[in-house]
Amino acid sequence: MDQYLQGKVAAVTGSGRGIGLGIAKKLAEKGASIVISDVNEENARNGLAQIEEAGGKGIYVPADVSKYEDAQNLVDAAIKELGSLDILVNNAGINRDKMFHKMSLEDWNSVIAVNLTGVFHCMRAAAGYMREREYGRIINISSASYLNGNIGQANYAAAKAGVVALTKTFAKENGKKNITCNAIVPGFIDTEMTRGVPPKAWEIMVGKISMGRAGTPEDIGNMIAFLASDEASYITQGVFEVGGGMVL
Ligand code: NAP
Repeated sequence: MDQYLQGKVAAVTGSGRGIGLGIAKKLAEKGASIVISDVNEENARNGLAQIEEAGGKGIYVPADVSKYEDAQNLVDAAIKELGSLDILVNNAGINRDKMFHKMSLEDWNSVIAVNLTGVFHCMRAAAGYMREREYGRIINISSASYLNGNIGQANYAAAKAGVVALTKTFAKENGKKNITCNAIVPGFIDTEMTRGVPPKAWEIMVGKISMGRAGTPEDIGNMIAFLASDEASYITQGVFEVGGGMVL
């Protein structure tokens, strides 16, 4: 197995389950030491145990990304306990879907707080350190809704569009500091977030995918591992779909 991320330290937010755990496992498989971070301690500790059983190395740091102090603690713990922070993957995300005319301020604020401000918090906490070292790989998870919107997801789509704008702006400001910053747009990925979809809707979604199947967290992890590698050192400010050819 080619461990091309040996010696690197990666923090993945919301990595107790789903896409985040898939990303963390893949980065560990490629040799990175991992900071598993989540609001759900049980899931995070299980995830870390799976990584360790497979021969990987990491620590668990609890972090609610909607709180700046948690984001700062996440960055500090990576540096103190694992020696550096080279790769930051902003994956934590929630849904509070409702038609716009029924969406409460609480539905709006909670999704913006995690899905957009949470990304700002973690990037802000890591930026000074990465700029000083002149090295960093930041990968943010957006969604297809960022481009076209999605019924019932005004809060989510707005947050995910914000993530793309944040990614591109950060990339422009930090390219000369050798920090790359890219966004991933997953298609329809089989996780707890999507498993609540009724069978008929699931069929319709999969029907829109050229590869004829929902994606897996590992499919997303493969792309993240590449963007975190030395081979991707000239790739920044990008927005990459990983959706098996899903029609957006
Ligand atoms: P998921 O299964 O719901 O996992 C999200 C993880 O984030 C959970 O472990 C959750 O903890 C954690 N989390 C929630 N709020 C948090 C907070 N404030 N701070 C830190 N962690 C928090 O979702 P997923 O499907 O893996 O999605 C991961 C990312 O991909 C999200 O940003 C999502 O918007 C994006 N995405 C997913 C799809 C898809 O098809 N699945 C498509 C496009 C984009 P709990 O267990 O406590 O909830």
